[in-house]
Amino acid sequence: MIKETTKTEVEAMPAFDAYLMQLRDLNDIVYTMGQHIKLTKSGDHYVCACPAHLENENCCRVSPDTQGFYSEGCCGAGGDIFNFISLMNNISYMDAVVLMAKKTGIPVPE
Ligand SMILES: [Zn+2]
Repeated sequence: MIKETTKTEVEAMPAFDAYLMQLRDLNDIVYTMGQHIKLTKSGDHYVCACPAHLENENCCRVSPDTQGFYSEGCCGAGGDIFNFISLMNNISYMDAVVLMAKKTGIPVPE
């Protein structure tokens, strides 16, 4: 007999935001960005070239605390690890989530 998923189990599934938080926890933005761009430590954060066009060295600021990046020195690109992956691969935010999910081995909740 096939066990049916009960309503309680569905409700117990983490919300999508919680899922994104989990993926962010498992994929450090400094480590991930460091695999693509040269990061230079500067006090409590890192600086690097803007991920949107990879020029203007050190115009982008990466924060290990907030797990975010912001290119205040040029085009204003910024966001979280998924925004970075989407910029680097020229894919949508959602595709970036799916890509990180595959890499991390945690399936995207339906
Ligand atoms: Zn820029």
